[in-house]
Amino acid sequence: MIAQNLRHLLSKLPPDVQLVAVSKFHPVPALMEAYDAGQRVFAESRPQELAAKVTQMPPDVQWHFIGHLQTNKLKLVLPYVSLVQSVDSLHLLEAISAWAVANGRVIDVLLELHLGAEETKQGFTEEEILAILPPEGVRIRGLMGMATNTDDMAVVEKDFERIEALYNSIKALGREGFDTLSIGMSGDWPVAVRHGATMVRIGTDIFGPREY
Ligand SMILES: *Cc1c(COP(=O)(O)O)cnc(C)c1O
Repeated sequence: MIAQNLRHLLSKLPPDVQLVAVSKFHPVPALMEAYDAGQRVFAESRPQELAAKVTQMPPDVQWHFIGHLQTNKLKLVLPYVSLVQSVDSLHLLEAISAWAVANGRVIDVLLELHLGAEETKQGFTEEEILAILPPEGVRIRGLMGMATNTDDMAVVEKDFERIEALYNSIKALGREGFDTLSIGMSGDWPVAVRHGATMVRIGTDIFGPREY
């Protein structure tokens, strides 16, 4: 089933859009099914869960972090991930920089844009993002956003239009390595692809519903 879901998604996605398998809350055997079907990029949203799964999955998996990251949890996450997609505050960005410098690493990150109306959403405003310069040890690779949680695709479309416009205006500044627009989940990835997604984060459409 998982292999079939992956095949189906890959047949629909443009070849230049990277598929990130969101495996949070799913058990390792489910991840292994995706791995055996060829999937190598997985994303987790909880530090402890990520750190545990890293030890149980093959070493050539690329891990992304997509959840809210507290600065006291960095050491559970940063040693293992190739991309932190969910940098949502300057405080976090600076803490990642300090960890990177102390550990002789360069950490790739995406800045999370606050999209949609929900108060609970994390992330920067457009103005904040435009003012951010990458601190030492951090490479800002692009933007991540989650559309308003609604079935109204016109609202989703508006959210993705906003982040696409911001992404394009930063790209036009010629920032080095700024090449990733991570938008689109199970319910809205076709809309995201139409708005320039270079990366989609899909859980439910691969692994089925999560049990919370
Ligand atoms: C859980 C999650 C996803 C995947 O959601 P699905 O609807 O299951 O595809 C994508 N992005 C983020 C940031 C998430 O937390």
